[in-house]
Amino acid sequence: MKTKAPTLRQFLDQFPTEDACLEHLMRIRFGDRHDCSKCGRSAHFYRVKARKVYSCEYCGNQVAPMAETPFERTRTPLRDWFHVMFLFSTTRNGVAAKEVQRQLGVTYKTAWRMCHEIRKYMGEVDGDAPMGGPGKHVEIDETFIGGFRSPKSVVLGMVERGGDVMTHVVPNQRRATLTPIIDANVIPGGAVHTDELRS
Ligand SMILES: [Zn+2]
Repeated sequence: MKTKAPTLRQFLDQFPTEDACLEHLMRIRFGDRHDCSKCGRSAHFYRVKARKVYSCEYCGNQVAPMAETPFERTRTPLRDWFHVMFLFSTTRNGVAAKEVQRQLGVTYKTAWRMCHEIRKYMGEVDGDAPMGGPGKHVEIDETFIGGFRSPKSVVLGMVERGGDVMTHVVPNQRRATLTPIIDANVIPGGAVHTDELRS
């Protein structure tokens, strides 16, 4: 546990506010620019003040980064979700609801439900449903939960645009390590974006 404390702190420092979490979710799912579904232009989407949506710089079309994620219908702050997802990404043998309850100071019921939702979500995307395919975009980012990198492992995230999130903890970011994971989980035929992935 000694070695974990600083990395959790580093992680939490990167997401000091709800806005920071939402911003990250937006960029990880949709990138800095994406083709607007309404006007068709490659657009930057700006945060709509006081709302959890972003709007197209050209036509005002709105996208909600939390849609179709476990965070969508919940009053639990994103910061708490990120915290628990961090635990899932860095703990090999699973995360106990009791531990989440202790770390977040939430009720056991809330902690259990969060673990359940995240497990279900990761199970769906880590299980037998590979991502991508014709007409779909898959974003691959070595730092899914945000610029976070522990000394021993890299969190590799794959995000289908507007869809699923998949995370893998991998020992390094060499091409030889990453390629088989990507091959095993992404259906060929669609576009794969690896803007921030040096390998
Ligand atoms: Zn637009």
